[in-house]
Amino acid sequence: MLRIAIQSKGRLNEESTALLKELGIEIDDAKRKFLSQSANFPLEVLYLRDDDIPQVVAAGTASLGIVGLNEVEEKGLKVKVIEKLGFGGCRISLAIPKAEAYDGPQWFEGKRIATSYPNILKRFLDKNGVHASIEVITGSVEVAPAAGIADAIFDIVSSGGTLVSNGLKEVERVFESEAVLISSGKLTEDEEKLLAEILFRFESVKVSRGKKYILMNIPQSAVEEAIRILPAMRSPTVMPLAAEGWCSLHSVVNAADLWDKIRQLKAIGAEGILVLGVDKIIP
Ligand code: ATP
Ligand code: MG
Repeated sequence: MLRIAIQSKGRLNEESTALLKELGIEIDDAKRKFLSQSANFPLEVLYLRDDDIPQVVAAGTASLGIVGLNEVEEKGLKVKVIEKLGFGGCRISLAIPKAEAYDGPQWFEGKRIATSYPNILKRFLDKNGVHASIEVITGSVEVAPAAGIADAIFDIVSSGGTLVSNGLKEVERVFESEAVLISSGKLTEDEEKLLAEILFRFESVKVSRGKKYILMNIPQSAVEEAIRILPAMRSPTVMPLAAEGWCSLHSVVNAADLWDKIRQLKAIGAEGILVLGVDKIIP
C-alpha cells in the first residue's frame, strides 16, 4: 500500500484530486476524511495542509506527496522531487510600493520585508549581500506595506493582480514554482513497483494533455500536402473513401495549433473536419 499526501483544501487540492482520477485511481471524495483509500489501486490518500506535506513525506509517514515546489524549497527537508506536474504554476517575488524608484537588490538594505517564505528570502538576500529584516506573516502578506508592518513584501505572484490592487509592483522574481510529486526516497520494493505504474500512467497523461484528434475528408491529390501540415506520432492515418478521388485523414494535433492547422487544411480542400478530445495516448 502506497500512501500519498495531498492538500486537503486550497489551490492544489482540486487539481491533485483530478490528477489521481486521470491516472485511473478512484478516490471516494464524498466520504473523504483525513485518510481515504482508493477502491481500485493500492493507494491511500492523506489530506493535509500544504505546509505539512514536505515534513510528513520526509519522515516517511507518507511515501509520496503532491505539493508546491515553493513549500519543498522553503522547508529544506530531505525529499526527492520526482516529477513536475504542470499545474499550480506561480513565482515568489519581491514587491515594493509602486511609487518607489527601484535600482536593484540594494534597495532592500535596512528595510523590513513581510513574507511567509523566510528561508527562500534569506537565501536571496545573502546571495546579494543585502541586510534586511524579515517579518514572518502567514496570510495576507500583501497588505503589510499599507498597514505599516513592512516596507516591502516577498510573496507568491501568479497574474500580479493582487499586487496591483494593493499599490505594489513586482521588482524581483526570485523563485519559480509549480506543483511537484515528491517521495520520501524510502519506498519498499512493492511501493517502488506501484510508483513505477503511477509514473507510466502519468507519462501518458502528459503526452495527451492539450492534444486533439482531428479527422477530415480530403481530395487524394492534397494528401501529401496535408501530411506535411499534420505531423503525427508516426504519420497520419489515410483511408480511401467510397467517393472516387477522396480520402479520410486522421491525426493528433496540439490544441494550441488547432485553428492554424484547420485554416491550412481548408485551404487545400479539406472538408467535414471533425475535432475530438484525446483521453489517453500510450506512446
Ligand atoms: P493550506 O491551508 O493548505 O496551508 P495555503 O493557504 O497555505 O493552504 P494555497 O493558497 O492553497 O496555500 O496555495 C497552495 C499552493 O498553491 C502554494 O504553495 C503554491 O505552490 C500554489 N499557489 C499559491 N498561490 C498561487 C497562485 N496565485 N497561483 C498559482 N499557484 C499558487
Ligand atoms: Mg499553507
